[in-house]
Amino acid sequence: MDYTGIAHTRYRKMLQHFKTLPQLLDYFKDEQTCKDYLAQHRWNGKVTCPFCEHDKIYITNRGYKCASKTCYKKFTVTVGTIFENTKLPLRTWYAAIYLTTSHKKGISSLQISRDLGVDKKNAWFMLQRIREVFFPDSQIPASKDGLFHVDETFIGGKNKNRHAHKKVDNSQGRSTKDKTAVFGIMQTGGDVFAIKVPNTQTETLKPIIETLVDKGAIIVSDEWNAYKGLKKDYAHVVINHKEEEYVRGAFHNNNLEGFWSLFKRGYIGIYHYMSPKHLDRYCQEFSYRYNKRTTNDMDRFSDAIKRTHGKRLTWNQLTEKPDANGNVVSGEYQVVE
Ligand SMILES: [Zn+2]
Repeated sequence: MDYTGIAHTRYRKMLQHFKTLPQLLDYFKDEQTCKDYLAQHRWNGKVTCPFCEHDKIYITNRGYKCASKTCYKKFTVTVGTIFENTKLPLRTWYAAIYLTTSHKKGISSLQISRDLGVDKKNAWFMLQRIREVFFPDSQIPASKDGLFHVDETFIGGKNKNRHAHKKVDNSQGRSTKDKTAVFGIMQTGGDVFAIKVPNTQTETLKPIIETLVDKGAIIVSDEWNAYKGLKKDYAHVVINHKEEEYVRGAFHNNNLEGFWSLFKRGYIGIYHYMSPKHLDRYCQEFSYRYNKRTTNDMDRFSDAIKRTHGKRLTWNQLTEKPDANGNVVSGEYQVVE
């Protein structure tokens, strides 16, 4: 067993510039290269015990061992990451992460299954775990001086339940049994924050706004009732959709509408279905790509790899649901997403 103290000697300087999937796969030619890359991005050259944060680590034949006498646990580079206990090669995961972060509207698990030769169930599980990476580490920074657009939309769902101004023309009789509300906040010139919500009522939306936006900021919304009352704490600008053309250019909601449009094009064109249970992960996936749209594919890939630890999602957590007696059982999954 080799005691190294700071175990950084095995890491090479990694300055890869992948512009294509073949280049990425050429570089990640074997499992060890993938592990080294993960270690570099996860620990930045200084291996830390995932159980106790101790930074004196032994390198073993199969991974690492914590040198703390009270811990002394063995671990590998994937412990505590989205890759923990996976049976798939990291190379396959990396290809999936590259495809997910570089395709503007995402990629379905069926497509990943075909492209990477992974069975459908594993492809679905892999993509759900990859989406965990996209949850923001912290809330969007609030600013009193900011101008924030707020809006809600519906993914899937029956038309009659939408607000009048959000009804889709000619959709009578189109039957979709799931309808899920998503709420979004976007700071002008900043990031979008989108989240699945149980409904679009004041008692749901107002606390989210109050958490994310400092009092005194300017908030732009449409005329939906749930936003009434914001003027107590904010400079609230209401855009009446009937008069929207009139105000366009001053306080319009175009950016957030652009984001919804991208989200819905992904839904319709790529995924065809997003189960309400897992919709929040899709919200984060689309938000992440949108917020990183000015970075290149390689930067998004390496950033995603950096974020893979502390985001573990197990099969049981993913598929759990209450049975008839209210006990949590697992095993159900949708292969159509
Ligand atoms: Zn430890």
